Order: sequence, then C-alpha cells, then structure tokens
Amino acid sequence: MDTILLLAHTEADGSLAKASLEALAAAKNLRGELHVGLAGAQVQPAADAAAGAGAARILAVTGEAFAQSRYATDAAAAEALCRASGAAIVLAPGTSRWSRALPGVAFRLGGRIDTHATGLAIQNSVPAVTRWFYRQRMEATLTRSQRPWIVLLDPGCVPAWSGPAGNAAVETVAFPAVETRTTVTGTRSPEAGEQTIRPDAKLLFVAGAGWTKKQPDGAAHTAEAEKLILDFLRATQASLGGSKSLVDLSGEGEAVLRFMTHLNQIGQTGATPRHPKGLSTCCHGEEPHAVGWRFIGQRRAVNLDANCGWARGKADVLYVADAFEVMRQVNALLGK
Ligand SMILES: Cc1cc2nc3c(=O)[nH]c(=O)nc-3n(C[C@H](O)[C@H](O)[C@H](O)COP(=O)(O)OP(=O)(O)OC[C@H]3O[C@@H](n4cnc5c(N)ncnc54)[C@H](O)[C@@H]3O)c2cc1C
Repeated sequence: MDTILLLAHTEADGSLAKASLEALAAAKNLRGELHVGLAGAQVQPAADAAAGAGAARILAVTGEAFAQSRYATDAAAAEALCRASGAAIVLAPGTSRWSRALPGVAFRLGGRIDTHATGLAIQNSVPAVTRWFYRQRMEATLTRSQRPWIVLLDPGCVPAWSGPAGNAAVETVAFPAVETRTTVTGTRSPEAGEQTIRPDAKLLFVAGAGWTKKQPDGAAHTAEAEKLILDFLRATQASLGGSKSLVDLSGEGEAVLRFMTHLNQIGQTGATPRHPKGLSTCCHGEEPHAVGWRFIGQRRAVNLDANCGWARGKADVLYVADAFEVMRQVNALLGK
C-alpha cells in the first residue's frame, strides 16, 4: 500500500477540527504508512492526536501566517508538506480552506485532485474514491493512476477518530518563502441575527414558503411563523434549512423569516447536509429541493396538500396537517 499523507490545518487552539478527525480515521483505514502534515499557528495538540492514531511521521509548517485562511500561504504550506512527505495519496478534509487551496497544489505537484469524496477505501487492491455526481443523483467509484493523488473528503461521511493522544515528535518543514498580497483583517458573519445552521445537529428542520402564504383564514401569519420556528429551534437545537422560494423571499427584504438567509437553502442549488433526521414544514417537496435531502436518514414532512411532492416517495412519513397547528402542539410538548 502507498504512503498516505493526512493533510490538516489546525484550529486556533492547535487541535484538529471534527472534519480533520474524520479524514484521519479514513486515512488510518487505508492501512498504509500514515504521515500527518499540519499547518497552523500552533500544532502540538493536533500532532499528539496524530501520534495517538499511529502516525509514522508528523510534519508541520507553523507560524502566525498559517493561523488564517489565505490562498498563498495555505497552498505554499500544503505544497511543502506534500513534498516533504513524498506520499502518493494525500487525504484532506473538505473544508472551505482546503477546497480553495488544494486544487492549485495538485497542479504544482503534477498530481491530480478529487473533491467532494464521500469515501476512500481499497477496492481490487487499489485505493478508490466514492463521490456523487449531478447533485447527488448518481454515485460513482473511481480510481486514478496519477500520483500524488489528493482527495478532499466531505465532512460527515466517516466517524471521527477518537483515542488517547500520544507524544508526538514533530518534524518542522521549512517555512516556504511566499509573496503575500492579502492581509486578513477580521471575519464577518452574515447578518442573520441568530446562528441557525448546525451541521452536527441530529435534526434538520426545513421551512418552506408556505409559512408566509395566506392561511385558511385568508391572512398570512408571518410573525407567528417566526416565533413557532425559533421556539422549536431553541428547544431542540435543530439545524434550520429553507426552500429556495422562502430564502429568495427573505433575500428580497420582504417581512418574512428574518433569520433565514441563502446559506440555509437546501437543494439542487443549495446545500446537501447530513443529519440523521429531517422534518419539512410548509414546503412542497419538489425534486430540485428534495435532491438536497439525499443524505438525510429519516424524512418526515407536514403539508396541507396530500398530493405534495413528499407524498410521491420522497418522505418516509407525510403528515397531512396544518404546520401551524402541529408546531404549536410540538412546542407545547417541548415546554415552549
Ligand atoms: C434549476 C432550479 C434549481 C432549483 N434549486 C432549488 C433548491 O436548491 N432548493 C429549493 O428549495 N428549490 C429549488 N428550486 C425551486 C423548486 O423547484 C421549488 O420552486 C421550491 O422548492 C418551492 O418552494 P416551497 O416548497 O417552499 O414553496 P411552494 O411551492 O410555494 O410550496 C409551499 C407549500 O406549503 C404548503 N403549505 C402552506 N400552508 C401550509 C400550512 N399551514 N401547513 C402545511 N403546509 C402548508 C402548501 O401546501 C405548499 O405545498 C429550483 C428550481 C430550479 C428550476
């Protein structure tokens, strides 16, 4: 088996994020010689975790320059780590930071890269990647002969590595000389008012445009919709998704669910999150939306319309009911 390099950038405290621990577990499963390459301002806690996982070599590029995401420094660090390791297979978590930097690194190394992998395992004696195409409608397994082969593993596909930390001996890789024109002055979050996207939540709660539509009494009840949804999210710590119709309304500045942004959108042109369960409310369940539910374990929907898309094999359970009524009752049971 080839040598495998697990490439990770560390958190502010020097540890590995969950996505990196997942990639570490996947790299271990390949059963080759495991190298770990770290980039960050601090790396010792991450190096100790890698030592506990049985890494044969732990390489690091450290310094304040690597505390922040910046293409020039991230790509230079990753390139230096790949060259120092000489590994044929490079596995990295599919974070926004690596997704931006590593395709360029593959080019510099004369290698290849595959992004959005959902698995990497030995098949027919060679490493093979699984990934989805056409917005999660088809799954493919592919191998490559070119090396180095960089694989970005999507978060949430493999149980994260956990185990006792070891005592790491870190090999420092020389700081690459990089010309930087970008200065990171801070970070800004979308003005959503409240953090509602929780990738690790057990439940995805999806709100559709129906919450803003006229109800059987002839009036819209947007303020109540907002309260019902927020009370439910606060009580359950569920993650909030939205249909495209609903987030488009919010984006146009209409007086609708104010905490909903385009980042909440689930579907073909939105996100494909991984939660064990999902509950859709006031959303029709059309294919461009439901395709974003590919990795949701158990799907339930509440809709007034018994002929909505969810009734056509897209949900495990469809409650034909008024979502306002249902959520009032659910929140009462939750003590809200
Ligand atoms: C190229 C392309 C890409 C797209 N990408 C996406 C995407 O990524 N994500 C996405 O979501 N859409 C996407 N769409 C749009 C998609 O086809 C639908 O138009 C959209 O999902 C509809 O949103 P909705 O179900 O919230 O709204 P609507 O279609 O308006 O449905 C509202 C639903 O609420 C129900 N309802 C109303 N009041 C209540 C109540 N009190 N209780 C229970 N139910 C109630 C109604 O019965 C209705 O079914 C895309 C479309 C195209 C063409």
